[in-house]
Amino acid sequence: MHLDRRQFLEVLGTTAFTAVGATPAGASGGDSHEDPMGMLVDTTNCIGCRKCEFACSQAHHLNDLPVEAFEDKAVFENHRRMDANALTVVNRFPNEEEPDKPTYVKSNCLHCLNPGCVSACLVGALQKTETGAVVYDPWKCIGCRYCMVACPFEVPAYEFLEPLAPRVRKCDFCAERTAEGKIPACAEMCPPMCLTYGKRSELLQMAREKIEERPDRYVHRIYGEEEAGGTAWLYLAPKEFEQLGFIHLGSEGVPVLTETIQHSIFRYGVLPLMLFGLLGATMRSLGPEVEPEPAISPIGQADEQTLSP
Ligand code: SF4
Ligand code: SF4
Ligand code: SF4
Repeated sequence: MHLDRRQFLEVLGTTAFTAVGATPAGASGGDSHEDPMGMLVDTTNCIGCRKCEFACSQAHHLNDLPVEAFEDKAVFENHRRMDANALTVVNRFPNEEEPDKPTYVKSNCLHCLNPGCVSACLVGALQKTETGAVVYDPWKCIGCRYCMVACPFEVPAYEFLEPLAPRVRKCDFCAERTAEGKIPACAEMCPPMCLTYGKRSELLQMAREKIEERPDRYVHRIYGEEEAGGTAWLYLAPKEFEQLGFIHLGSEGVPVLTETIQHSIFRYGVLPLMLFGLLGATMRSLGPEVEPEPAISPIGQADEQTLSP
């Protein structure tokens, strides 16, 4: 029987998690900051150079690979997803009208305004900071992986190969760098300036102006403005986002549902081991309202599909 990651975690959760005494320290879902920092990704300017992947790996000491290792374009033959050693990945999507100009999409944690991962974390290991970044504290994490089930964008990865102290891994919006007044490493190294870091409200305005100035260049929609209650990372694209691997989501934030579940658990003593199943059902109810085109896999999801340039 084939189980996908979510199904596997749901089954695992019903048998493994018995932390009845845990408290819902992370159940707030984080504050909805009025105007958090964000990133505008203009996919029409992305050249697929993978410098952002290199910068991220350097900034987070993920590996010792030189920049040349990220110049390998063969990786675009298959869609890749984030993992414990790659907090951001760039994937290539074909352009039927101009085959020599494919679209490249960088994916990573979108830093939701009301993050489901924060809401689902029983011990507060995931928190939303003052700037709007969603960060992780491995010292608090109990390894339940509820966050992985609760994320509507299927972002958090887990160090399954770490025998002693496996961690959940995801983009932290370069929280240490930004606390020092620097911009995120990926944005600093992105050559054609397709990554713009700034206040979310200003990025939204910038995105609207770009669409207005070049209505032929962009699909008239900003991904992340509404999805899952809104995200700090915002995307512009030349065609419908679902054709570029983005998951189609409604505008309702995940925490509304996960908090209801958690409050029931702790108020009425429902066993926490039931949370996985409930979260799984919740996420399925929030899932794609329409199926993406079968030839394209959701953002961040791996497949074995071979892509044409
Ligand atoms: S994209 Fe997923 S991991 Fe990132 S903040 Fe949102 S819910 Fe959390
Ligand atoms: S913001 Fe930082 S952690 Fe996130 S993808 Fe960019 S470099 Fe990596
Ligand atoms: S560094 Fe910028 S242009 Fe290069 S792949 Fe990353 S997002 Fe695209």
